[in-house]
Amino acid sequence: MTRAPERIVVVGASLAGLAAAHALREGGFFGSLTLVGDETHAPYDRPPLSKQVLRGLYSADTTLPRHPDLRATFRLGQPATRLDLSERAVELGDGSRLPYDRLLIATGTRARPWPNPEEAALAGVFTLRGRDDAQRLGARLRGRPRRVVLVGGGFIGFEVASTCRDLDIPVTLLVRDAVPLAATLGPRLGGLIGEVARERGVDLRVESEIEQMEAENGRLLAVTLKDGERIETDCLVAAIGTLRNVEWLDGSGLQADAKGLRCDAFCRALLHDGSVAEGVFAAGDVARWPNPHDDDALVAVEHWGNARAQAETAAGNMLAGDASAMRRHDHLPDFWSQQFGLTIKLVGLADSADSFAVMHGSFEERRLVAAFGKDGRTVAAASIDSARWLPAYKAAIRERVPFPPIEDAVDQPHIRVQEP
Ligand SMILES: Cc1cc2nc3c(=O)[nH]c(=O)nc-3n(C[C@H](O)[C@H](O)[C@H](O)COP(=O)(O)OP(=O)(O)OC[C@H]3O[C@@H](n4cnc5c(N)ncnc54)[C@H](O)[C@@H]3O)c2cc1C
Repeated sequence: MTRAPERIVVVGASLAGLAAAHALREGGFFGSLTLVGDETHAPYDRPPLSKQVLRGLYSADTTLPRHPDLRATFRLGQPATRLDLSERAVELGDGSRLPYDRLLIATGTRARPWPNPEEAALAGVFTLRGRDDAQRLGARLRGRPRRVVLVGGGFIGFEVASTCRDLDIPVTLLVRDAVPLAATLGPRLGGLIGEVARERGVDLRVESEIEQMEAENGRLLAVTLKDGERIETDCLVAAIGTLRNVEWLDGSGLQADAKGLRCDAFCRALLHDGSVAEGVFAAGDVARWPNPHDDDALVAVEHWGNARAQAETAAGNMLAGDASAMRRHDHLPDFWSQQFGLTIKLVGLADSADSFAVMHGSFEERRLVAAFGKDGRTVAAASIDSARWLPAYKAAIRERVPFPPIEDAVDQPHIRVQEP
C-alpha cells in the first residue's frame, strides 16, 4: 500500500485543475494543495467566451464557483517550467520548486497561432482561447468592424460567426475542407450546419485558404485568398485549432507530444518506456488516454465534460491506496455547441463512423437525432435542438448495441442507414 499523500500539486488552474481540487477535498484529502496557473485569473469557464461573452450578454468574468472550504494555495501568473520526476518537484517560472507526493497535470491547450508571425501581430488579428482574448475580440466587435473574416471550420469558428451575425456584422468564414465541422459531426450534419450558417447570412467559403494578409501602419486591411480573390477586412479571427501545453514537460521522461500527454486508463501519466510515472496523473484537454468505448483507441478530446470527469477520476485515483483501488476513466465523450439559434449535442465520437441514420426528426425540420455506427455497432449520436432522446442513445452506446439502435420509438421516421 503506497503512503497517503501529504502534498498535492496541480499544474493548470482551470476547469480540470479546479474540478480535481474539489474532488480531492471531497475525497477526504486534508494535506497541502497547491494549484499552479500561468494565467493571472482565478479558474474560469471557457464555453461562454465564444457565445454569451462575445455577444455582450455576460461579462468576461466567467470565474468558476469555488468550494468555500477548498483550502488551496493558488500560484497564479506563474508557469510551471520543468518537472523533476526523480526529486518529485515542479519548477516554476520564478525559480521556486514545489515538491509533491502526487502531481496532476492539467495544462490543457492553447489557440494555435496564425502561422505567419508578422501577420499574427497585426492589429485586427485575433485568436480566442482565454478571457483576455474574449475581452479584446468582444471590444472589437462592439466597435463594429467592416467585415469579420473567420478562418477555421471548427466549432469556435462557427460560434463566433453566429455571434457576428447576431450583432449584424458581415462575416466571411473560410473553411479549408469541403464540408465544415465534418471531423466532429460527419459530413451530413456538418453540411446541414453549413447550410444554416449561409441562411443566416454567413459568407461561407469551403476549400478556401488565405494566401496573405495586407496591412497599413500595422493594421489589417485585407486578405487575399489562394484563388486570388481579395477581401477587405479589419478584423480576422484565426480559429485554426489548438496546441497542447506540454513543452514544459520536455526532458521529464513523460510521453508528451503534440497529440497530448499519454496516460493509462487510470489517468496515470506514462514514461517513454510505457511504465507508469509514480504519483503523476493527467486530466483534461492535455491528456491522451485509451478510450474504452472505442476498443481502447487512444484519444484526446477537448470537451468540457471530459475535463471535469477525468479530473474527478484522477483525483480519486490519486487518493487510492494502490492500483487495485483505482477506477478506470470510462467517460463517454460528449460535447455541446450553440450557434445560429441551434443547440447541437454529441455523445460518443463520430469521427471514425462508417454509417449514419436519422433516428428522430429530419434535416428539413432542422430538429433531429442522428446515430453513427462503426463495424455494426452504435458509436455516437448527435442531436440538433432535440436533446430529449440523447440519454437513451448514450446508454445504447455504453451498452455497445448494434447499429442502428432504438428502432421502435413512436416518433421515428423510416430509418435509412447511409454513409456518414
Ligand atoms: C472559446 C471556447 C469555447 C468552448 N466551448 C465549448 C463547448 O461549448 N462545449 C464543450 O464541451 N467544450 C467547449 N470548450 C472546451 C472546454 O472549454 C475545454 O475542454 C476545457 O476548458 C478544458 O479544460 P482544461 O482544464 O483541461 O484545460 P484548459 O481550460 O485549457 O486549462 C489549462 C490551464 O493550464 C494553464 N497552463 C498551461 N501551461 C501551463 C504551465 N506550464 N504552467 C501553469 N499553467 C499552465 C493554461 O493557461 C490554462 O489556464 C470551449 C473552449 C473554448 C476556448
